Amino acid sequence: MAFSNKNKIFIDKEAYYTLAMVQAGLLNPIDKLMNKKEAQTADREKKYKGKSIPFSFILAPAGRRNEEVIKSNPKKIELFYNNRKIGEVEVEEIYEIDPLKRVETIYGSKDTKTYPQIAKTLKRLGKYAIAGNFWVEDYGIKKKIDYVREIIKNKKDVVGMTMHAKPIHRVHEKIMRQAIERNDLLIVFLIKNIEEEDVPYKLRFETLKYLVDTYFPKEKIIIIPLINTYIFSGVNEAILDAMIAKNFGCNKFIMGQTHKGLGIYYQADHLKSIFDSMNLEIEAKTINEYVYCNICKTIVSVNSCPHGSHHHISYHSDSILELLKTGLMPPTILMRKEISAKFLAHMFPNRFKNLEKLFYDISPNKGLIEESTDEDFYIALMKLYQTSSLT
Ligand SMILES: [Zn+2]
Repeated sequence: MAFSNKNKIFIDKEAYYTLAMVQAGLLNPIDKLMNKKEAQTADREKKYKGKSIPFSFILAPAGRRNEEVIKSNPKKIELFYNNRKIGEVEVEEIYEIDPLKRVETIYGSKDTKTYPQIAKTLKRLGKYAIAGNFWVEDYGIKKKIDYVREIIKNKKDVVGMTMHAKPIHRVHEKIMRQAIERNDLLIVFLIKNIEEEDVPYKLRFETLKYLVDTYFPKEKIIIIPLINTYIFSGVNEAILDAMIAKNFGCNKFIMGQTHKGLGIYYQADHLKSIFDSMNLEIEAKTINEYVYCNICKTIVSVNSCPHGSHHHISYHSDSILELLKTGLMPPTILMRKEISAKFLAHMFPNRFKNLEKLFYDISPNKGLIEESTDEDFYIALMKLYQTSSLT
């Protein structure tokens, strides 16, 4: 079998999942691996088939063996992931690319020292791109799209927003409430990373679902996982998120007051101007900055509260997460106690040696001792924290 590797290209999960998203139509108008001319036009004019896109869509996998196969100019290429064939490309053209230029197009920077993410993407890139039509095995996206389409078919205003929910806090909740007040349905795209995360998707999904099931009208919100691949980087993240929301069927898209990419926060007005310069056929909405005001004693928009920043507490998921990681329960003005309890129970398994006794001692109802969990204990403890006598 001397020629068994002749047409085989080995790609990673990121490339595979991105191809599958394109195939499912989530990055419409992108529908193929672009040839040289199409890619150059896309990068220069930010357009493909007359529609706006942030950059060209290409496949240029790294690796000596891959490069040899690509350079041999095969008519058809078989795509392998994890030593399993998952797709094919009908080769239209093979052309050389400049990997550095490519990362700069995606990230708006080629500074690999400051941004490890750029270095990572650069490492995945080879020197040759494969153009043409392709197919890959679907990993479940089509089913999700069908599910969403069925739900939204009679709905007029469907708004999308992306979220990490890491953890989900009170301002997220406020934004979600506003979204359902003004629209028939909110689709929360919960970001799921390819690699294992410090806060697993399962926990983020379960806490978000708990919030939706317990405190929202269920028929007005759905949660859909959104696989985060290299294309969702830099300033383009918001644009691609909006494209995906649109292709799922949303007619509106909510952007945070700042959208984070590469550790750089893009301010809402800057993002809005990028949006306005592109015609994405979806209405982009920016939201106000919300804070807790210790005079108003509630969550307010900075535009509606006169008390100034010295009375305001901001909501930063990373700081709240930091508290949780040290084992502290964040105050309930920041996040709901049930959600904190779920996070802490996950982060510190089997933490208490005498849980039953502890729980019994801090509970006012000394009835039958029922089996309690760490989660119950945290909630009971928070209730005591919130008791306002003897302060
Ligand atoms: Zn105030």
